[in-house]
Amino acid sequence: AEKYHVVLDENRKLYNEVQDLKGNIRVYCRIRPFLPGQSQKQTSIEYVGENGDIVVANPSKQGKDSRRLFKFNKVFGPAATQEEVFLDTQPLIRSVLDGYNVCIFAYGQTGSGKTYTMSGPSVSSTDDWGVNYRALNDLFQISQSRESSIAYEVGVQMVEIYNEQSRFVFFNLHTLGIWNTTLPNGLAVPDASMHPVNSTADVLKLMNIGLMNRAVGATALNERSSRSHSVLTVHVRGVDLKTDTALRGSLHLVDLAGSERVDRSEATGDRLREAQHINKSLSALGDVIFALAQKNSHVPYRNSKLTQVLQSSLGGQAKTLMFVQLNPEVQSFSETISTLKFAERVSGVELGAARSNR
Ligand code: ADP
Repeated sequence: AEKYHVVLDENRKLYNEVQDLKGNIRVYCRIRPFLPGQSQKQTSIEYVGENGDIVVANPSKQGKDSRRLFKFNKVFGPAATQEEVFLDTQPLIRSVLDGYNVCIFAYGQTGSGKTYTMSGPSVSSTDDWGVNYRALNDLFQISQSRESSIAYEVGVQMVEIYNEQSRFVFFNLHTLGIWNTTLPNGLAVPDASMHPVNSTADVLKLMNIGLMNRAVGATALNERSSRSHSVLTVHVRGVDLKTDTALRGSLHLVDLAGSERVDRSEATGDRLREAQHINKSLSALGDVIFALAQKNSHVPYRNSKLTQVLQSSLGGQAKTLMFVQLNPEVQSFSETISTLKFAERVSGVELGAARSNR
């Protein structure tokens, strides 16, 4: 772990940064630590810079693809805490209360820490909370602090996309009296069906139900959840009490399906179908973000369910952040490289292999 020198720039001017993000994608890389019992394993992470540089290498390989430099907006090393990660995410999240649409993704192979970053390892300790609980908590706190000038309403929904089909996982919310409406078939939830949640506790309750619902019908939750995309959406409506003008913002928190390549010779039946759907939707997502980063006039939203669901909140004035999650083991080197290449492409800044020697 001494290898990593990630120094948080605590004096970062958080709010100014938000201005730079309009219509742009920001990419944060996060390396998970070795898990207990893995301390003997070799790492593929050679260098982490404060400025968003990361060098990955496979010491047992030769040639140009055995070592590469990538550049992102930020790289969080394995010692980074949930709080540190959130600190750099907070300005984006807060902008939702000013009427922005924000999308935050976690991308990476299964086991690289996507769920850890987005949800956290447990909800019982607030230190463990991932981006989604912290985000909701923050939104509630700020909306309450603005109570005298803006009346906010917050509604949440969670959708799972599996094999190009979407379904609501807050399926029985109405039993809580919080979401007392019939569920629409489509994904655009009409305003009338948005019922407010009033506190982080409400949300925790909902998310637990969401998690339980996600498990229904699946032999093993982990298996299934790593092959589906989960989209937690927070809709915010605010009315300025002085001017009586309304604003709307939305936050999409997306825990993507595992990006690992499935060996075609081994996968058959359901497994193969799942893998094909995942590949299709992740490349569709990459194409959309790439097209937006390049400011292309055509953005291919229609190519997957995932990009259709997110269409209204990707592009335009929307802000996008992608967490690129890495497994540090050298055994994962080739997955790590393809994850980083995906991220490099969507960030719109491709460096190529030339500068990989340092
Ligand atoms: P994924 O969602 O990408 O499949 P997980 O979030 O489930 O991966 O992480 C895999 C394992 O690694 C879990 O046991 C998780 O608790 C652990 N883990 C991931 N990231 C971290 C981290 N930053 N610190 C400590 N443990 C982590």
